[in-house]
Amino acid sequence: MTYFMYQGKEYTSLETMPPEVQKAYAKWREEQNLPDDLLDYYEAQLRDIELENRGEKPLPPEKASAERRVDLLPSTCFNCGGPLSGDSVKWTGAQSADCPYCGVNLPMRTDGGSR
Ligand SMILES: [Zn+2]
Repeated sequence: MTYFMYQGKEYTSLETMPPEVQKAYAKWREEQNLPDDLLDYYEAQLRDIELENRGEKPLPPEKASAERRVDLLPSTCFNCGGPLSGDSVKWTGAQSADCPYCGVNLPMRTDGGSR
């Protein structure tokens, strides 16, 4: 793993670095005074942050939870009668969840007809 930002350009391998960048990179690694595997770890983190800043990284899975239809979840399990909440059930999709007690797939309430 190689990741180095130099004068606004990013380099992900030694081969793509011009000689002066290679020198700066070697100097930077020396200055960190860290073992190689730790430096590699930091470089991976830097790269992840950079990708995230540019929106090139897939969104973290927590984002999907915002689309879970907690409002459609029944308040109790039809099968075992256990109390249900958006945090306790096992979501298998935005509109599909399993009972945390008996494991049955819970039917979501359907909208309409209630107005
Ligand atoms: Zn149940």
